[in-house]
Parts: sequence; C-alpha cells; structure tokens
Amino acid sequence: MDEMQREFLEIVEQVKAHLEYRRALGMSFVEMPLRGGARPTAPVAAQVDPENTASAVGEKPFASGSTGLAAVREELGDCTRCKLHKGRKNIVFGEGNPDAALVFVGEGPGQEEDLQGRPFVGAAGQLLTDIIVKGMQLKREDVYICNIVKCRPPGNRNPEPDEVGACEPFLIKQLGAINPQIIIGLGNVAVKTLLKTKEGITSLRGNWKTYQGIPLMPTFHPAYLLRTPSDKKLVWEDIKKVLAALKKIEKG
Ligand code: SF4
Repeated sequence: MDEMQREFLEIVEQVKAHLEYRRALGMSFVEMPLRGGARPTAPVAAQVDPENTASAVGEKPFASGSTGLAAVREELGDCTRCKLHKGRKNIVFGEGNPDAALVFVGEGPGQEEDLQGRPFVGAAGQLLTDIIVKGMQLKREDVYICNIVKCRPPGNRNPEPDEVGACEPFLIKQLGAINPQIIIGLGNVAVKTLLKTKEGITSLRGNWKTYQGIPLMPTFHPAYLLRTPSDKKLVWEDIKKVLAALKKIEKG
C-alpha cells in the first residue's frame, strides 16, 4: 500500500468513526451545509467526549447556529478575562456561516483585524480568501473563520498560555454552536494550541487529527505562505484532503 492509499484510508477511518459516533447519538443523517441549512443540534463536544463536556463547554447546553453563536458572543461581552483586552481596539469574535461544515481556526487577530474587528482581513486574510474562493470554489460566507484568541496580542506576539486558557472556552462554545464537520487549523501556534502538543506544524500538517472530537486538518498559516510561497503547494495538498473528506461526508 502506498502513502497516498494509506492517507486515504486514514481519512475514511476518521470520517467513519465520526459518523458512527453521530449515529450512536441518534443522528441518523449528516449534511454538508456549506451554503447553510438545517443541522443536528447537539453540541460537538457532547457528541464526542461526554466526560469532558462540562469542563469544555460549561454546564449548560447551548443552542446551535446563529442563535448559539449570538449567545456565546453575548456571554463574551466586553471581555476583560485576560490581559490582551488592554491593547485591543476591537474583539475579533469570528465571522461566517453559523452552520458551516468547515471552520478555519487561526492564531489571533493582527493589526488590520483589530482595527476592523474581523478575522483574516489583512494580506494573509486575502490569501486565505483566495484559498477558499479560488482553491476550494467556496465563498468566505460559506465557511466560518475565527482564532484561538479574540484580541490582538501586542506586536503580533504569540498568545501566552494564560491568554489562551482564558479565551479557549469561547472557541469551544463557538465550535459547539457551529457544529462543523471539519476544522482547518492554521499555523504552528493555532495547531499546537488546539492539539496541546509540542510537535511543530511542519510534521503535523497534512495529517488528520481531532479537536473536541471534530476532524482537524493542520496546515500552514497564510502569513507563512506569504513569506514562503513555495510551500503553497503543500497547503493545497492539505486542502485537497479536506475537500475529499467533505465530499465523502456529503455522500454519507
Ligand atoms: Fe477576553 Fe479572549 Fe480578549 Fe482575552 S483574548 S480579553 S479572553 S476575548
């Protein structure tokens, strides 16, 4: 069996396990509402890891889709839970389809994002938009885009563990409300944080992982690709795996 076949089987196994778990929870169907549509309502974390649900998403179950996201945003409020609030101009909560099958998770807002209050709107954001629109043949509004931390770290430094710890519960709740089929983790910091690993993105990228029970594909951050355009082809390989898995999910 060659490398490609092995990777394909890995994808199939991951997707199969995810679907079987959903079935076990009484979800007899799976949709791929890349352009919106009804979704199962159970929180993602509850679907995949009931024992961790309370610590991950709080004791209260939450609604799905836009209602759930609005509730998470309301709970976040004018957040001062970590020191990043001091330098921010805007909280960058995230944007996109509240019922998206695919969620991109980056590291944190940069200067432009902080100014606009929107994720991935600078130069790296344009490249991410190109990946979504030109590469995946989707619209930005079809997917959901957010970050590990919602306030800009000063000087674009990496978010620190206490900041991640304060903000991550809201990311988990966001994902619980959206209930995506797949997450794409963008870049070293985001992926290491999500997977709680010291392993670097170079070895992680292209290999399926899970976050809160959701299949996660780690890949390079668009900002890195701006500095190293020759690695765009590797990202495209990763994106193709995601497209194949989404297609597989769509077919059921
Ligand atoms: Fe609150 Fe998150 Fe901003 Fe910290 S980064 S102040 S936890 S919203």
